[in-house]
Amino acid sequence: MRSRGDTALLRFVRYGQVRRATPHVVVEDSDELVALYAPVGSPCKTAVWDGSPIRGQADRTWRLRDHVWDTYRVLRLMRWGQAHSLELFWEDATGAFACWYVNLQEPLRRSPVGFDTDDLVLDIWVEPDGTWRWKDEDELEEAIRLGRFTAGEAAAIRAEGERVIADWPFPTGSEDWQPDPDWPTPELPSDWDEVY
Ligand code: MG
Repeated sequence: MRSRGDTALLRFVRYGQVRRATPHVVVEDSDELVALYAPVGSPCKTAVWDGSPIRGQADRTWRLRDHVWDTYRVLRLMRWGQAHSLELFWEDATGAFACWYVNLQEPLRRSPVGFDTDDLVLDIWVEPDGTWRWKDEDELEEAIRLGRFTAGEAAAIRAEGERVIADWPFPTGSEDWQPDPDWPTPELPSDWDEVY
């Protein structure tokens, strides 16, 4: 297990290739929970096709582009065996809590450089006042049409999101969480692209 303050790489791996890789600071790594923090300014790698972000996510080949995470501070709470990440976003300029985000993804796996999963396209956006909406439903439809998921697989992805909404884990208790000011911005390790 990794220690609080260590760097761990969170990767989306698909068809044996890295699709996204972002270094995080380990907040917790236990038998129940992996909590990872991504500050604004983290260098990452993200998939592009002809220089553009990819919609539908059904492509089998891509190139990776250097990117710097530039939107929110993010704390990702991932429980072993669950097909989602429960995420908290804060405004970087003010530190104000912005929203919750449910990223539907494969259950987490350990890797020598951190943790691997794969993104399952559909997401849920939850406002601080509790209003919520699906994000990228159209992209999930596109992924079915393009053959990445069967209709049954897509229904299972959606059902996971419906379970989260039914359980309603908001607030999570971490809304006032703050990163340790001594943590440096995590860097990409040199072996970020090795798939095991
Ligand atoms: Mg997603």
